[in-house]
Amino acid sequence: MSNVYCRYLLALFLFVSVDSALSSEDSTVIMIGVDGMRADTLQRLPASNLQFLADSGVVANMIPAMPTKTFVNFYSLATGLHPKNHGMISNYPYDRKLGRKFNRGSDVADPQWWSGEPIWITAEKQGVKSATYFWVGSEVEIDHIRPSFWKPYNKHKDYSERIDEILQWLALPKGQRPRLVLLYFSAVDTAAHDFGVGSKEEQKAVARVDKHIGDLLLGLNKLGLRSQSNIVVVADHGMVNLSDERVINLDSHISLSEFIVADWADNSHSVFAPFLNLYIEPHLLDAAYDKLHKLHPNMRVLKRGAFPVNYHFDHPQREPDLMLLADTGWSLYASRDKSHPQSMQKSGRSIATHGYDNQDPLMHAIFIANGPAFKKNLQAEPFDNIEIYGLLACALGIHPAITDGNISTLQYLMTKDCTP
Ligand code: AMP
Ligand code: ZN
Ligand code: ZN
Repeated sequence: MSNVYCRYLLALFLFVSVDSALSSEDSTVIMIGVDGMRADTLQRLPASNLQFLADSGVVANMIPAMPTKTFVNFYSLATGLHPKNHGMISNYPYDRKLGRKFNRGSDVADPQWWSGEPIWITAEKQGVKSATYFWVGSEVEIDHIRPSFWKPYNKHKDYSERIDEILQWLALPKGQRPRLVLLYFSAVDTAAHDFGVGSKEEQKAVARVDKHIGDLLLGLNKLGLRSQSNIVVVADHGMVNLSDERVINLDSHISLSEFIVADWADNSHSVFAPFLNLYIEPHLLDAAYDKLHKLHPNMRVLKRGAFPVNYHFDHPQREPDLMLLADTGWSLYASRDKSHPQSMQKSGRSIATHGYDNQDPLMHAIFIANGPAFKKNLQAEPFDNIEIYGLLACALGIHPAITDGNISTLQYLMTKDCTP
């Protein structure tokens, strides 16, 4: 047993006795978003702090929203809304009315791309201070409100500094300190994309995130806040390894030049993707569908207005005309210029990715909840990530906004009555 873990257990033992004296106004909720941490991670890799939280809390496979991408899902987690209602229907949605794609540089703070009420806004409206140490959507002012503490996204910000700053916020006097804290780590997603699921780099990234979560728990103990803290660990989606044997070369069949391809960066010659969202002039749609829909047995072609009911990305301005969706582990390949010789080269391609059908367990995300608001030693049934908003509101004791979730489905995970 590691030193950190032993010290943590001892401190937990010392503080656990005050639990019963706590009121709802004292409760603190810390949600940690670990990008790309697949639901089965603890069965595959060592992570003593996460394992401890799981063993003494609630765990479940969480079902992401479609498409199983980062911006879509971190914003569903924050708002409790399906993508069609919060607007982030892809990592780079295209908006017909605006006539352009979302830009991660300039549009992260532009409210016209972001709908719904993230949990930090609900908290602030009810006088509960909130803090976001990076979260998709947290740089936008909504209803003229922002989190009391927030940061512009910086992927390279040192992880120890993130934890230290959060602990400094939590050390502030009651009334100034946040009761809701959100924290984000990208390392697991990056390592898995670059080296694959099952690589030693993925293992190291999980260990790194786990160590910083351990430091956070120790810090909470030192501040005397552990017994009132509810820790919720979530991911946005799972991950799957790719293969050269599973590539669908669209160039051999069609040209995508007549489409707007939303997730294809303007400066890139070619694309390898789990799905492509396509936008086209209305009078060309039927012919394009006819050309594409039987093109490859491992590619589904879904048409606007006829997406599976559980996809929920039929946003009025952003729903794609066609979605080309590869089977899990397959890649769609296309080039802008078919004569471009290096376009099928391997350099720059991911070893693993996500974006596939959200019902596939390989796309499911980790969920762990631990603290006084949650039951102990409970393996829960899989649930949709739109339920997280209601869960956080219940743990904080605040009144939730209207969402697409239904908290009564998760009441059995909680120690308190969540009826709004
Ligand atoms: P994906 O392309 O779906 O794998 O997206 C993962 C990437 O999203 C990570 O490498 C992060 O650096 C990036 N990311 C996560 N959160 C944010 C944010 N709030 N703002 C900008 N980029 C982000
Ligand atoms: Zn992600
Ligand atoms: Zn990713």
